[in-house]
Amino acid sequence: MQEGKKRRIAILGSTGSIGRQALEVIDQHPEHFEVSVLTANNSYELLIAQAIKFQPNSVVISNENFYLQVKEALADQPIKVFAGSESIDQIVQSDDVDVVLTAMVGFAGLRSTIKAIEAGKVIALANKETLVVAGELISSLAVKYRSAIIPVDSEHSAIFQCLVGENHNPVEKIILTASGGPFRGYNLSSLEKVKKSDALKHPNWTMGQKVTIDSATMMNKGLEVIEAKWLFGLEPEQIEIVIHPQSIVHSLVQFADGSIKAQLGLPDMRLPIQYALGFPKRLKSNFPRFSFMDYPNLTFEQPDTKTFRNIGLAFEAMKKGGNLPCIMNAANEIAVEAFLHEKINFLNIPEVIEKSMEIISFVKEPSLDDYIATDYDTRIYTKELIGK
Ligand code: MG
Repeated sequence: MQEGKKRRIAILGSTGSIGRQALEVIDQHPEHFEVSVLTANNSYELLIAQAIKFQPNSVVISNENFYLQVKEALADQPIKVFAGSESIDQIVQSDDVDVVLTAMVGFAGLRSTIKAIEAGKVIALANKETLVVAGELISSLAVKYRSAIIPVDSEHSAIFQCLVGENHNPVEKIILTASGGPFRGYNLSSLEKVKKSDALKHPNWTMGQKVTIDSATMMNKGLEVIEAKWLFGLEPEQIEIVIHPQSIVHSLVQFADGSIKAQLGLPDMRLPIQYALGFPKRLKSNFPRFSFMDYPNLTFEQPDTKTFRNIGLAFEAMKKGGNLPCIMNAANEIAVEAFLHEKINFLNIPEVIEKSMEIISFVKEPSLDDYIATDYDTRIYTKELIGK
């Protein structure tokens, strides 16, 4: 962070959980940050309110049906208003953006993330699906265009923080912690009866619906394993998961000498968001502090991969590579949506994903077009499967 120069931030997905918390962080550090772009899918009323408060240069409402509402509400503001997701691709490349926070949900974030990388922007990566789907492509583009990717996901931020100052000292393995979600300790017969409302009650973290369901199914950890592989250039054998119900140790790195570094803190997403936006500086915060006295027992246990089959599916997708993680991700997005609409039950989620991974054709070295086609085909297939 250069002295005296504010970082100009584009927040893709500013009305979601990460986007709103990022604005809180920015609001507390007006001397360091300013907002240059805000984008939202459908939540136009909140987008308007955010735009009036933070005065970005531009806003984009992806759903074109709400364009007129946003345009009218901001008519007397010096803010440009655009509609449609294609507008985002151009705006992330503009000269008045330094950092792009990718906080939109799902595969939809891929194209604009690539555009931002091609323009050499710093990426504060909150959209894990992007790396899961197209990790190889994203990593090679980031090297080619000298675009830094700073993780926002709390586990990956923890690992990133452990690696700062290590100057490429070899990593033996990383250990991703997982809370285990609301159904930790459940067996298959108890999972059969769980409802949407149960799955949406995460014990530690307040997050959007998609990631909350992913946490309950453990797919979130599966996605994070693949995300970690690409962010840190690891082999599948170097990545472990440990269940840590208190969510205080955010993840760990074990080095070649056997020494382990961990990063700890209260489960508060504003911390990794602020770290990513301010990197390499640690800015002062007034967030609540962790005390060991409040958590006398930090515990750790093995993940139950027999009950939570998504973990195994994710490792399989990571090891086989190609477009298999893309298939897994698309099937998961459709399955989670169907679960949220109460069209399938909880245990159908891994079934639907596994079946899609079997049926959709495998491509060993996919191009961007292959990823887009795979995502499209998988969504059609998975929806049909769910309809049956
Ligand atoms: Mg996470």
